[in-house]
Amino acid sequence: MMPTIGILGGGQLARMMALAGYPLGFNFVFFDPDESACAGQVGTLITADYDNELAVEEFCQKVDVVTLDFENVPVETVRRIANKKPVFPSADILEIAQDRLLEKEFCLSIGVPTAPYTAINSLSELKFAAKKYNYSAVVKTRRMGYDGKGQYLIKHEEDINQIPDSVFQHDLIVEQLVEFNREVSVIVVRNIAGELKTWPLCENKHKEGILTTTMAPAKAEPLDTLAFEYAEKMAKQLNYIGVMVVEFFQTKSQVMVNEFAPRVHNSGHWTIEGAHTSQFENHLRAGLGLTLGDTGMQGMAAMLNWISAFPDNIHTISDIGVHWHVYGKEPRPNRKIGHTTLTAPDPQQLHDKILQLVNRLGVRL
Ligand code: AMP
Repeated sequence: MMPTIGILGGGQLARMMALAGYPLGFNFVFFDPDESACAGQVGTLITADYDNELAVEEFCQKVDVVTLDFENVPVETVRRIANKKPVFPSADILEIAQDRLLEKEFCLSIGVPTAPYTAINSLSELKFAAKKYNYSAVVKTRRMGYDGKGQYLIKHEEDINQIPDSVFQHDLIVEQLVEFNREVSVIVVRNIAGELKTWPLCENKHKEGILTTTMAPAKAEPLDTLAFEYAEKMAKQLNYIGVMVVEFFQTKSQVMVNEFAPRVHNSGHWTIEGAHTSQFENHLRAGLGLTLGDTGMQGMAAMLNWISAFPDNIHTISDIGVHWHVYGKEPRPNRKIGHTTLTAPDPQQLHDKILQLVNRLGVRL
C-alpha cells in the first residue's frame, strides 16, 4: 500500500506537494479551515478549525504521515497529531519558527548571525529601540507575520506615531534595517537518515514584503559559502526532517539570517522545472524515509510570482519554454495566485526570455 500523506494547510504549497507526490504513487489528504483551500481541487480536503479535535482525529485516521504547508498551525494541534502519526518537521521546530524572537535566539545560540534586534512590548520600549537604531528600523509582530504582514517601517522618528495602538497588544520585535546588497535563500533538505542536500543559491526580490522574483543560481559571491554553512548547521542542530528554507540578507561583509521557513518555500518553486528534483518531491522523500533526489540543475531558472491578478493573455504564450502554474485561488489584493518559471542555458538567454515574456504580457517586474 502506498502511503497517504496528510498536509496541514491546503494552499498552493500543499497543492504542489501533491502534484509532485502523485507520480510517486502517494495519496494526499489536506486539512484547512477554509473550504475553498486550493489544494482541495487535487485531493481530499477536511475543512475544520485546527483546534477541532474530532476533525483532527478523522484526519489522523486517514493518513500515515503528516507534514504542513503553513507554519502557523497551532503547536498544540501538531503535538496532538504527533502522538498518533509521524509529523515532519517536528512541533518543537514549528514552535521556534512561529516566533521571530525564538528563531533569532536559536540562530545566535549556534553562532549564526541575524539582523540586530530588540524584543519590545510597549510604545516607550519602541521609542528607545528605534532611537538606538538611529530611526532605521522595522517593527514586526513576533508571531503570525508573513509576506510583510504585521510590519511597520521606521525611517523617521514621526513614523512611530503612525503605528496603530492595537499593534502594542502583540509581542513585538524591532529590527535594525539592514542595508543589504541582495537577499538570498538556501533551500536545504534533510531526510530521516540524516542525508542532507542543498539546491543552488536563490536570489530573491521583494516588493512591499512580498516575494516577486527568484533567480537561480544567484551570481556567485565569496560570502555564499557562509550562507550554505549556516543553513546546514541550522538543519543539523534542529535535527530537521524535510525541506527548510533559510532567507538571508547579504551585505558587503556579512551574511545574516532574516528568517527560516519550516516547509517548502516560494523561493524554491523554480526547482519544479529548474532542478533535477524539486523541493516538493524531496520534501516528501525526506519525510517518508527515502533517499533524496539530485538537487543539481542545468543552466539557470527564473521564477516570477503573479500577485493579486494575472495578465490577460497568459495562455497565448507557450513558445519560449515558459511554465505556468495557476493555483486555482480567487484573485485578491496582495494574494499570490500563480507563478511562472523560465529556464535557459545561460544568464544572457534567461535575461532575453524574461524581457520577451514581460513585453508580450505588458507587465512590469
Ligand atoms: P519578512 O517577512 O521578515 O521576511 O520581511 C519581508 C521583507 O521585508 C524581507 O524579505 C526584506 O526585503 C524586508 N525586510 C524585513 N526585515 C528587514 C530588515 N531588518 N532590514 C531590511 N529589510 C528587511
